[in-house]
Parts: sequence; structure tokens; C-alpha cells
Amino acid sequence: MIPFNKPYLTGKETHYIYDSVHSGKLSGNGKYTQKAQMFFEEKFDFKKTLLTTSCTDALEMAAILLNISEGDEIIVPSYTFVSSALAFVRQGAKIVFADSRKDHPGIDESLVENLVTPKTKAIVVVHYAGVACDMDKIMSIANKHGIYVVEDAAQAIDSYYRGKPLGGIGHLGTFSFHETKNIISGEGGLLSINDSTFEERAEIIWEKGTNRSAFFKGEVDKYGWVDTGSSFLPSELISAFLYAQLEHLQPIQEKRIKLWNLYNQGLKELDEKKLLQTPQIPDYATNNAHMFYIITKNLDQRDDFIQHLRNNGIHAVFHYLSLHTSKYYLKKHLPEHLPWSDHYSNCLVRLPLFYELEEESVKNICKVINKFFGQ
Ligand SMILES: *Cc1c(COP(=O)(O)O)cnc(C)c1O
Repeated sequence: MIPFNKPYLTGKETHYIYDSVHSGKLSGNGKYTQKAQMFFEEKFDFKKTLLTTSCTDALEMAAILLNISEGDEIIVPSYTFVSSALAFVRQGAKIVFADSRKDHPGIDESLVENLVTPKTKAIVVVHYAGVACDMDKIMSIANKHGIYVVEDAAQAIDSYYRGKPLGGIGHLGTFSFHETKNIISGEGGLLSINDSTFEERAEIIWEKGTNRSAFFKGEVDKYGWVDTGSSFLPSELISAFLYAQLEHLQPIQEKRIKLWNLYNQGLKELDEKKLLQTPQIPDYATNNAHMFYIITKNLDQRDDFIQHLRNNGIHAVFHYLSLHTSKYYLKKHLPEHLPWSDHYSNCLVRLPLFYELEEESVKNICKVINKFFGQ
């Protein structure tokens, strides 16, 4: 069976973990945490970054930093992972769901302004499959109405919008290093703080509401409880693992892009004949090959398709269920109609894509897919 995902190890992970264990510094914010944060600040020119234990945690930090509270409204695409909404719900916010684009699972930027009310505090955009949302449009709506933008860039490492790295455009950006992402640490995440007014408070929230970071930098002579927060920072063991991965970012990306292009090549004809749809990359966006997906005609065809692949030893999976139809959301809200989000819930299928996947395997998967569509 070709698995959907297989975590890739560069070989250096256990070496760096060994080093951190023997250095005697196991808790967070040590050498490897600094190295990993520095990597993002240097490579992507992010002003200030903080490693977190997950992207979910980075989103929760964002919700705390933006002072989200009861009665605030947050605009979020419905076709996304739970955390993009949940992090704000935990602060008491009401989620206003937006539909996806017709040509792409990302948020339909043209619908966003109509969802803005005097209670809107932030827009969360999700760069689905690592492909940028139209950030100029989003930022101009946000600036016009004085609201914040959080980029859920969980899937978007090393991907760009008009040359600008994703996660670095909105006021805050969040990344994930979950084992299904391009760069992994098992569980892990990062908050990018692009608006410097949040920098000082972010460090406090990160360190359980204390000014411990400032103390270690010698900025204050004792540290104590000064704000709300939690234990959002990962241990050095996780950071050590992550740093080994970051050092391999380039070869990992090159290999993934190569495999992605092979899929695209192998399925192009099916797309041209409108038998399925392959991903569309807008001209303002790059492709970081986080995911290769296809879109079937309907739910029945999708189920048959996944079964056909399974019968041929290939594990493919569908993705998000629209959040606006989730049990949790419907407990408190009336049903809404977001047809494109439901369309992607029903019809999108993700194909195997991981570093060690062989080019031959991708070619074979394409053959199996072509056969399913009678080609
Ligand atoms: C993976 C993912 C998350 C959650 O990341 P964790 O690190 O597992 O918390 C959030 N949003 C999106 C869009 C994701 O793909």
C-alpha cells in the first residue's frame, strides 16, 4: 500500500536531540528554539517569531493578543481545519463563516467585505495547500475597516504572494509542523508577529503570563506574573528536531515540487477533458507542493474514486468537512448555505505526497487514476 503520508527524517534529528539532552537544557527557549526562530527571521525576513507547541497554540496566542472577547466577530473560511475557528471561539468570539472560491478552496475574497460588521475584530485567511489568498484584497478590506488579519499559514511554509512570504503579510501568521506538513516536528508550530506592537506582549503570553523572556534578556531585574497566557513554548527536544528539518528545507521543497509537477503532468489530460479538476495556482501565488489534490464531480464519484485507488494499493483521503455544518457550530447557530465549501468537502481528494515517494510511484498512481476515468 502506498501510504497517504510518511514522515521524512533528514537524519540529523536524533543528533540534535542528543546534543540538547546532553547540554542539560531541556525546557523551552534554549539554543535550538533560538536557532529555529532565527531561521524564519533570516530566511523569510519575519520581524519576530515564537515557536509554539502547535499551530493551534499559535492561533490561540493570536486570539489572546488581539484581545478577542465575548461579542467579537471573526471572519473565517468554513473549509478549514477546526483550529482556525476554535482558537477564537475559546475567547468567546462569534465565527462568521465565509465560502470558498469557485476555482480554489481558499476564502472567496469578494465575499469578505459583506460579512464585516461593527463587531468584526479579525479576518482569518487560510492559504489552502500552501497557495496564497489574494492578500492585497484582504489587507485593503482590513485596513479600510480597522480590523486585524491572521494568516493561518499552517500549510504554507516557503510559499509566497507576489514575492512576499506567506505568514508575514497579515498582522500575525501561524505555521504548523505537524507530521503531515512539509517541515515537521511531530507536533509543533510557530507564531510570526508582523506588527511590532504585539511583540512584547507575545513573549509574555508565551511564557505563562510572566515577563520571564525580558528577565533572561536582562531587560528587567526580576520576573513575575504580569498578564494572561499559557505554556505555549515547546521543549528544546522538539526544537532540536525541528531545526534539523529546517536545515533541509530546500531539498525537501525541491523533491515535493518535482512530485507535484509529475502529478500535474500525468493528470493534465483528464483536467483538459473536464473529467476531474487539478489545482489552479493563481499568478500572484507560488506552489510549495504541500498537497496535490483532485476534485471529482460529486460525492458518489469521490467515494468510488477513493475505493478504486484503495483497490490498487493507494491510500488517498478527502479533507475538511465544512465547519458551518459541524455539530458544534450548529448547536449555537442556524444552518447556513456555503455551497463551495460543501463542494470541496464532498469532492476534493488528496493524493499521496511525501519526500520518499518515488517518481515511478507517482507515474503509476496517475495511470490508475486515468484508468478510473476511462482513459
Ligand atoms: C494542520 C493545520 C492546522 C493545525 O495545526 P496543528 O499544528 O496540528 O495545531 C491548522 N490550520 C490548518 C489550515 C492546518 O492545515
